[in-house]
Amino acid sequence: MPTPYLASHLQGFGATIFAEMSALAVATGSINLGQGFPDSDGPPELLDAAVEAIKAGHNQYPPGLGIPELRQAIARHQRRWYASELNSDTEILVTAGATEAIAAAMLALLNPGDEVVVFEPLYDSYAATIAMAQGQRKVVTLRAPDYAFDAEELRAAITNRTKLILLNTPHNPTGKVFSRAELELIAQVAREHDLLVVTDEVYEHLVFSGVHIPIASLPGMRDRTLVISSAGKTFSCTGWKIGWVCGPAELVAAVRTTKQFLTYVNGGPFQYAVARGLDLGGSYFTTFIEGMRQRRDLLCDGLEKIGFDVHRPAGTYFATVDVRSVGYSDGETFCRELPHKAGVVAIPSAVFYDTDAGTSLVRFAFCKQLAVLEEALRRLGGFIS
Ligand code: PMP
Ligand code: GLN
Repeated sequence: MPTPYLASHLQGFGATIFAEMSALAVATGSINLGQGFPDSDGPPELLDAAVEAIKAGHNQYPPGLGIPELRQAIARHQRRWYASELNSDTEILVTAGATEAIAAAMLALLNPGDEVVVFEPLYDSYAATIAMAQGQRKVVTLRAPDYAFDAEELRAAITNRTKLILLNTPHNPTGKVFSRAELELIAQVAREHDLLVVTDEVYEHLVFSGVHIPIASLPGMRDRTLVISSAGKTFSCTGWKIGWVCGPAELVAAVRTTKQFLTYVNGGPFQYAVARGLDLGGSYFTTFIEGMRQRRDLLCDGLEKIGFDVHRPAGTYFATVDVRSVGYSDGETFCRELPHKAGVVAIPSAVFYDTDAGTSLVRFAFCKQLAVLEEALRRLGGFIS
């Protein structure tokens, strides 16, 4: 609801699309393929570890940086997957999900008027947290269906006010996994203009084709990059809100300053559990990806059969369709009608764009049980025909 009490630099930000669409799903009894959260629990080892931590009395404030066991597990994780060496006392900070990490980074790094270059479609909290820090966003468009960007558009977005590039790969909502060539180009621009890079890698373990390359691993990038990730997606525990920031000590110290006054700390017992999860063997991660690939293919094949033009994602758990293929011109109209007419909820991708490049696009989440996806497809098929 618009309210005059909201500060002027935040006017225009209302309820998040995810809250709005999940409420609509409940109100209409629809299958919720809108907000991205799994409908099955994560690995039992992780759940048991959280219960054990509560029973062992780890129920007070954890240390401000996060418990050492978790920071050390994050350091081992970054070494194991990306050959990145981090000092767990100075280069890692545990946060209340990636959401807090992003907000704390924007509040810590931006002066009023500083510009942030970000690729659209952009995850909704980016625009809001840049605004909270009184920064300005400059968008570079990823163009459907392959979501490539124009190098000249990226260069043209840089001005003498640009402070940082905010990158998300694997990318929500498109499912794009940025290629090495694309990351090298972004890294080159960052080095040329002496920019910081903040990368949101929460879908790092959800890649079906290609590989996830942290931009921090490219030459000259470690010292200017903050890497953000979280446990929510990797371990199917989105309600636990355990995230982290990794990077050079001075950048992490800046984020720690704002973070300590936002939440100070969170999720004590869950920190123990996530520490255990990060050390799980390779089979957990391959089984997780294969299960999600099966869901992706079930949903995408089914949507194609119904007649949708589908952008099958290389990563994340979101698939995009262009609703012009089924006789609509506007994804927002489609998504507003869908719960009432088909009993399914999806997200209009237009909410992630500043420009009109996403008007006809709609995002479906497929991190749901196979039977739920099958029922959603049956309903969508009935509606479209
Ligand atoms: N970044 C992206 C791209 C996301 O999709 C999400 C939502 N899961 C987040 C950040 C927030 O992550 P968390 O739940 O750990 O705060
Ligand atoms: N990241 C989730 C999505 O894109 C939503 C998280 C949230 O509700 N803030 O669906």
